[in-house]
Amino acid sequence: MDFHPPIIEPEVFDLVQYEMKQRKASGKWVSAAHCFSGKIFCGECGSLYGSKLQHGKSKYKRMMWQCNQAASSRIKCKTPQLTDKQVQEAFIAVINKLIANKAVIEQAFKEMLFILTDNTKLEARHNDLQDEYDVVREMIRKLIEENATTTLDQKEYQRQYNSFTERYVILKERLVEINEQIQERAAKRTNMKRFMEAIKSQKRLITKFDEELWFATVKSAEITATNEMCFSFRDGSNKIVRL
Ligand SMILES: [Zn+2]
Repeated sequence: MDFHPPIIEPEVFDLVQYEMKQRKASGKWVSAAHCFSGKIFCGECGSLYGSKLQHGKSKYKRMMWQCNQAASSRIKCKTPQLTDKQVQEAFIAVINKLIANKAVIEQAFKEMLFILTDNTKLEARHNDLQDEYDVVREMIRKLIEENATTTLDQKEYQRQYNSFTERYVILKERLVEINEQIQERAAKRTNMKRFMEAIKSQKRLITKFDEELWFATVKSAEITATNEMCFSFRDGSNKIVRL
């Protein structure tokens, strides 16, 4: 299977920035050592599923996944422990459903992509803010200059200066927000494209776990106490599989 883009698109950069920000925001820094790390959550307490090697009676060890809270505290969640193989099988089952439905998914993808690509409103808002920001900055500059070259009432000067800078700070914050929204939409687009390319490149149902396909499609997954795995995919869709 091969869906690597030949070069790194600018949108991929946006995606990385966005994902890093999200991870920082959630306070969960996880190493990308294993493809399930940082992706699977406990449906009961919201903690990440962590891995540990289990030494059985037999010679071989196996990787087990379980709620991190269950591992570290006395409160035990009812969500099940899972082997690597169980997670892989759940993924194979769910991805095959997607591959079988790829025509439907592709249609939804096209519609969503169209909406996400249209940044007209955000850009107009951004430009308005930028204009106002430039005006206020210029007013502050002029005021300081005036104060340096003429005798202004210092109380009045301070009052004006404070009110201008207050406005300036607010505008700056709003500009940052809007830039983040634009970046977020670009990241969503990249996510969706990556997802769709991965699904489209599958000519037939899969029988073996494919790590690249996992990375390209899965945003996160949640394990329920009733033995279900709810997948959230990069295109924004969800699907549930029984474990
Ligand atoms: Zn839990």
